[in-house]
Parts: sequence; C-alpha cells; structure tokens
Amino acid sequence: MDPITLAKETEICKSCTNIVIGKGNPNADILFVGEAPGKQEDLQGIPFVGKAGKNLDELLEKAQLSLNDVYIANILKCRPPENRNPTQEEIKAHTPWLLLQIEQIKPKVICSLGNYATKFFLSEANLDLMPKQPGITQVHGKVKLITLQGKKIKLIPLFHPAAIIYNQSLIPLWQKDIQLVKSELTQSSLF
Ligand code: URA
Repeated sequence: MDPITLAKETEICKSCTNIVIGKGNPNADILFVGEAPGKQEDLQGIPFVGKAGKNLDELLEKAQLSLNDVYIANILKCRPPENRNPTQEEIKAHTPWLLLQIEQIKPKVICSLGNYATKFFLSEANLDLMPKQPGITQVHGKVKLITLQGKKIKLIPLFHPAAIIYNQSLIPLWQKDIQLVKSELTQSSLF
C-alpha cells in the first residue's frame, strides 16, 4: 500500500477534522519535523499555527528565515481524538508518509522539534529503538549524522516550540541552535 493511503486508513485520520501535511517550500534545504497536529492545526489543516507555532514563527523571523527557506511537517499527520497518545500501529502507519516527504524534499538539514521527533530520527525510524535514545536536553543544537532509507542526513535537534511557552529561559539557546542550522547549510556537503 502506498504511504499516503496507509496513513489515511488509520482511525486518527478518519476522526480528525483535517489531515495536516505540511507548510513551506517543498524544495527547502531545512525541514522541521514536529510530533503531531494540535487543536488549532487540526482545525486549520496547517502545522504550527497555534501558540507553539507563534514561537516558531518568531524564531524563524529572528534568524531571518522565511517559509520559503523551510518546510514544516509532523510525524503524525492527524490529531488523535481527545489528544490521546497515538498507538504504535498508528505511528507505524504514519511514518512512511514522512519518509516519503523527506525523499521528495531532499533537505540538507532536518531539525527535529522536541523529544519525540528527535528520538524518532536518532533511532533512524526504528520505533522499537526510540526509548533508548537520548533526550532533547542532551542533544539539542548538536549535529548528528543519521541514515534514513540508506541516505545520510544531518539532523540538528531543537527544542519544541511548545517547550518555549513554559520555559522562556530556553530562548537564547534556541536562537543559538538555529544559527548552527544556518551555518551547517553553508558548509560544503559531506555526502
Ligand atoms: N505541535 C506539534 O508537534 N506540531 C504541530 O503542528 C503543532 C504543535
């Protein structure tokens, strides 16, 4: 089954208001990946449009990046009902769609936003290995070389924009980390 149909057959895709695919430039060098749509995202069908999204907008603006420079997506394309945790089956059914997006966008750098997306990429999309991965406080702002579907990719984990709502003291680190992302783009490619 193709990745999009596979995801669309899950319960969360049938119960959500909108499937949230992504926003930004599908040819961008930087891909941001969050966890799953929240309430606002579900209602509007666009990722990161709620409170957390405002923080992300400000981070990008401060770093002089626009939506033309980035693409923003989530691991899960639909909001689980009542914000329940997605099942392993649902996660397994949604991740191939993200991997397809990565194949099409061919980003130079992936920025995982927060713990969940970071552990997903550090485990190289092996869900069983996710719990063993280090958390975001340990790895934010570090360049990690990972292999996804046989291709090497630079991963730079960043704090999740929702974490900034509750902990504004993270903002200077967050801004420093995004500068690293920009400087990695200007480095000659490793691959
Ligand atoms: N949190 C996420 O991880 N993704 C969104 O799109 C919104 C909030």
